[in-house]
Amino acid sequence: ALILGIESSCDETAAAVIDSNGETLAARIVAQRIASQDEMHRPYGGVVPEIAARAHVEVLGPMIGQVLADAGLTLDDMDAIAATAGPGLIGGVMVGLVTGKALAMAADKPLIAINHLEGHALSPRLAEPSLAYPYLLLLVSGGHCQILEVRGLGDYRRLATTIDDALGEAFDKTAKILGLGYPGGPAVERLAREGDAKAVPLPRPLVGSGEPHFSFAGLKSAVMRAKQAGTHRDADIAASFQQAALDCVIDRTRIALGACGPVTALVVAGGVAANAALRGALEELASGAGLPLVAPPPKLCTDNAAMIGWAGAERFAMGYSDALDVAARPRWPLDANAAPVRGAGV
Ligand code: ATP
Ligand code: MG
Ligand code: FE
Repeated sequence: ALILGIESSCDETAAAVIDSNGETLAARIVAQRIASQDEMHRPYGGVVPEIAARAHVEVLGPMIGQVLADAGLTLDDMDAIAATAGPGLIGGVMVGLVTGKALAMAADKPLIAINHLEGHALSPRLAEPSLAYPYLLLLVSGGHCQILEVRGLGDYRRLATTIDDALGEAFDKTAKILGLGYPGGPAVERLAREGDAKAVPLPRPLVGSGEPHFSFAGLKSAVMRAKQAGTHRDADIAASFQQAALDCVIDRTRIALGACGPVTALVVAGGVAANAALRGALEELASGAGLPLVAPPPKLCTDNAAMIGWAGAERFAMGYSDALDVAARPRWPLDANAAPVRGAGV
């Protein structure tokens, strides 16, 4: 099936055409475009929701036309339209969802409302066609830090979450403390390569605890104190922070591997999964557990519409579609209720 995917939940405007019959990643992504708003938000050190929503309005319509042209296809060729319906910044989510509804209505195509987190969660199946359910998923992004047993489409058992900050948020806050700007994850990773990971003693919150939950607030405060002390090189702080954060993630994931049912693979997704040091550490953990590690290519880890189109393709194949009054949702836990709510329409 051919699916048009639309993503606008944070600060990336994205559209993609997915062919679910493709046997490789290259064949599955017929065309995709992503416009990042990084430059617009940089002066503010983080995403400004109103600026984000206005930029999505300006960029999305023309982008959809361009991506269809890139694919050499028209709206009529699509089998369904899949748009992110949450969670995220509500103004931006509404822009993408309303656009999806309008196109679905105009072209008389089914609309599929996608949970953005389901997009991240299934992105490894887009990238790696042989990845079968059930798998253990480490979902690490700007707003989420969870470990989920992905048992099937729409069937997610959450084993762990963060009690304060998300992992991407910890990277972004560390970047801010070190004056590296927004978005911070890639900048911290780059600077960390030049530093000594043992130079600055930092805490590893919750490491050793029997439940696989996460906490990063105390680590962030310790980074702040290390910076204020003025006795460390920034590169050493970045390297020590990254090491501490990864030690937490590896320890927590090891606990979850012991607590979950049988799985086919250890899988990582979400923006922080683009981090090479994290991928390396998880590779080691997975091979020690006798499991393959599946990590999508870095460009599929951060926000994109191909993963939304792919989640749409999986839902379309199961016969799911949504009514045109499906609501945009600022919050939408993946495990509680995978079915979108109706009636409170946008
Ligand atoms: P969510 O998916 O939870 O709604 P989001 O969509 O804003 O949040 P993503 O786009 O999935 O988040 O991920 C963005 C996050 O990933 C940011 O916090 C960013 O700093 C982080 N990130 C991106 N690349 C890297 C990297 N190489 N190393 C560490 N962190 C990274
Ligand atoms: Mg972004
Ligand atoms: Fe995301």
